[in-house]
Amino acid sequence: APAVFTEAEFYQQNFDPQEYLKEYYSVNSSQEGKNAFTMQNLRSLHKMFSLDGLRGKTLIDVGCGPTIYQLLSACEHFQEIIALDYTDQNRRELEKWLKNEAGAFDWEPVVKYVCELEGDREKWAEKQEKLRKKVKQVLKCDVTKANPTGPVSLPPADCIVSTLCLEAACKDLATFRSALRNISTLLKPGGHLVMLTVLGETYYIFNKKVFSCLCLQKHEVEEAVVAAGFEVMSSEAQPYTVPDDRTDVSAVLSLVARR
Ligand code: SAH
Repeated sequence: APAVFTEAEFYQQNFDPQEYLKEYYSVNSSQEGKNAFTMQNLRSLHKMFSLDGLRGKTLIDVGCGPTIYQLLSACEHFQEIIALDYTDQNRRELEKWLKNEAGAFDWEPVVKYVCELEGDREKWAEKQEKLRKKVKQVLKCDVTKANPTGPVSLPPADCIVSTLCLEAACKDLATFRSALRNISTLLKPGGHLVMLTVLGETYYIFNKKVFSCLCLQKHEVEEAVVAAGFEVMSSEAQPYTVPDDRTDVSAVLSLVARR
């Protein structure tokens, strides 16, 4: 892991969205193993968003990065989506896809896979359009701030989804716990939190840059969620490792909680 924890400003300076997408989200048949992580996460999201009560008017994606995979199952259950991230370049990259601009990342294989999970691979183009229409705003946020979207304040949402963000943004467990409290203010009482969190990871590398990660265990995440005022509805860790030194991840936790 890097000697100093790589916090938000390091992301602003060093996180290249196109390289990130290429490394983690491009579907390359010659390197099938590389997509296993994403496909496992898509199955987890599909399962979590199929739970009773996971529907409503508004959904907020916290730490969206340049990606949309985390919204594909979600967008079937919510009318309006707001995506938040710290870095300018990630919000811009996301907007490129939303506006169908030239050079936007090709999510087609990922969208098709989710459509297959939902029972109809043929509706992928329709689903892309649905998602593009539902994302109403892409805004800056900092999960370490008491009002993460300050000075803007958003009406409380019915659901929050957050994938692979808090463990990247928080340098220690105390910061992680307060970040959960901070983002809980974006949610209505009774609203849901859907998270994908890597466990046992201290770093990840892409584009020759090393990013640190808060090394978490399952019970630490669950306790932090409870301490932030949530009731855990489901929590499942699935083992995941890579055969090289691109990361030292050991598992991914899928967690659903209710405020
Ligand atoms: N959700 C995406 C991106 C994860 S990468 C995915 O599942 O692939 C981690 C993201 O956290 C980056 O987009 C980074 O810009 C964002 N981030 C880092 N520190 C943050 C902070 N303090 N507040 C909000 N977002 C932050």
